[in-house]
Amino acid sequence: MTGTADTAGQESRVMDFSDDEVIIGLEIHCQLDTLTKLFCGCSTDYRDDGPNTHVCPICLGLPGSLPRVNRKAIEYALRVAKALNCTIVEESEFARKNYFYPDLNKGFQITQYDRPLAVKGYLDIEGDDGEKRVRITRVHVEEDPGRLVHKGGADRAKYTLVDYNRAGIPLIEIVTEPDIRSPKEARKFLNKLRATLEYLGVFDSEKEGSLRVDANISIQPRGWFDREGKGKADRGRAEVKNISSYKGVEKALTFEVTRQKNALRRGQRLGTETRHFVETRGVTTSSRSKEMEQEYRYFPEPDLRPLRVCTWADEIVLPELPDARRARFITQYGCSPIHARTLTGDLRVAEFYEQVAGIDPVFVATWVADTLLGELNYRDMSINRVSPDWFRELIVLVHKGNVTDKGGIEVLRSLLDQIRESGSCETPGVCVGRLGLRVLERTAETMSEDDPVVKAAREVIAEQPQAVADFAAGKKEAFNFLVGKVMKKTRGRAKPADVNQVLLAILGKEG
Ligand SMILES: [Zn+2]
Repeated sequence: MTGTADTAGQESRVMDFSDDEVIIGLEIHCQLDTLTKLFCGCSTDYRDDGPNTHVCPICLGLPGSLPRVNRKAIEYALRVAKALNCTIVEESEFARKNYFYPDLNKGFQITQYDRPLAVKGYLDIEGDDGEKRVRITRVHVEEDPGRLVHKGGADRAKYTLVDYNRAGIPLIEIVTEPDIRSPKEARKFLNKLRATLEYLGVFDSEKEGSLRVDANISIQPRGWFDREGKGKADRGRAEVKNISSYKGVEKALTFEVTRQKNALRRGQRLGTETRHFVETRGVTTSSRSKEMEQEYRYFPEPDLRPLRVCTWADEIVLPELPDARRARFITQYGCSPIHARTLTGDLRVAEFYEQVAGIDPVFVATWVADTLLGELNYRDMSINRVSPDWFRELIVLVHKGNVTDKGGIEVLRSLLDQIRESGSCETPGVCVGRLGLRVLERTAETMSEDDPVVKAAREVIAEQPQAVADFAAGKKEAFNFLVGKVMKKTRGRAKPADVNQVLLAILGKEG
């Protein structure tokens, strides 16, 4: 076959790629927020302490030490499994995963292998085409390894230090079926999962390194997945390992979609490969694939008995979860479905809203979901830094009409900037005074020049003879134009109703 024919063949295949579908499955590791480690009594609150200060013979894996299961960690894992609608397995078992790596002091990791804690669940999310169900394959418990610190950066470190403070922190691993169809859906799944875990009180997403994700991604002809099922990838797939942030997952997957599509267009064959996400550059790079093809020689952990926890699981009562709270926000507060979803998508936001909602639930929903969250996001700030007390004071000022919506936003921005700079802020009342944003109250029904709205209206009428003439000639837009000018002159502090009334009164008299 000639080169030309080859090219033509490739081009005809290019046509076939127009109806492709992205297939994503996730493996999520989350640190369970217990006080002590999974198999010993060492404290899990290690982040601000020196290296190797939260260790003991058990989590260092010294000979003769025996692990004991942390009851709280199993209870937390059961809460997660139940919230993810999983079946709790009658008898599950810990296993040793054997491999050598310096962060793994024992030479093996205690995890669960062929008998995980729970299987076959699901989590409903807002997918690209509306509500969708992502199936959960399994949920299991394992210990975190230690942490390697490469002095001088991973690439050029002259030496590497190891910190075992993290060794033995309880992790939960959640594996999904390949039901996710876009990087954006992957982000939405993770957001929903994070919210669920936080509602359960078992996870703190604000702790550095508390979440790590491995993502499987491939691009297949549409419908292929339903026809062929898992494990028959005819175009290869990539597993992107150890992505450590929520935003990172969407970025890494977006990069992979482009990379794989380009490779397929060029007619390349994509094998199954392991890749790493380089967060700073927003790209994935190939790992030496041999390195990951390990034989872990799993076997049951001889120092721990199997777990029989079904009865216990039945007794665990779950708190209100995001979907239930969303439904309640709609019925109890009259929130719109979109606001209810936004407000309940993060436990802290939901609680914040409920502390302020009493003023006027729908009004406050708009302020929190649209305005406050937008301003926080813009500043990359957490809602934890906003006090419900001062926010309530601001909302009351706006709600009563002492400050316009626009003025309220100006105050909010100023206060958030102050918090970001110095950690605290003045009160909304003081801020309103300082910025001169208090709404101009009409002093009386008279047309006295003492009234600031009347004064502004008269000035505008004097400055805009053409618009006044147009209004007299019956042009409605001319009136709106004059209203706009008066609002501008009063720096947005006049009430629109007052401006209308005053303008009509003056123009009516003079016209
Ligand atoms: Zn320990």
